[in-house]
Amino acid sequence: MSESKPSRNEDEYFVKQDAELIKEQRTRLDAERGRAERRSHYMKCPKCGADLVETEFHHMKIDKCPECHGLWLDKGELEMLEHVDQSAIRGFVRSMFGLKF
Ligand SMILES: [Zn+2]
Repeated sequence: MSESKPSRNEDEYFVKQDAELIKEQRTRLDAERGRAERRSHYMKCPKCGADLVETEFHHMKIDKCPECHGLWLDKGELEMLEHVDQSAIRGFVRSMFGLKF
């Protein structure tokens, strides 16, 4: 009877240690999966998944989707558009969407 207690404690110790190791490994795998997931989405259209094409306009790098024609602006670029000449923006939008107006 007196010997069962320390050995059970030992078992609990190893069970706990195994659980820690499994948890650690799962965290590592989740992180790796997250990174792979992000890599696979890099420069992909958030709407249709096509490869985005980088287009330069007034020192801005605008990412355009050739499939659904969505546009992606980086942080601060929308504010920068305010300082661009209206007719230039109109011309750019026209060329982006192939509009004739
Ligand atoms: Zn798209």
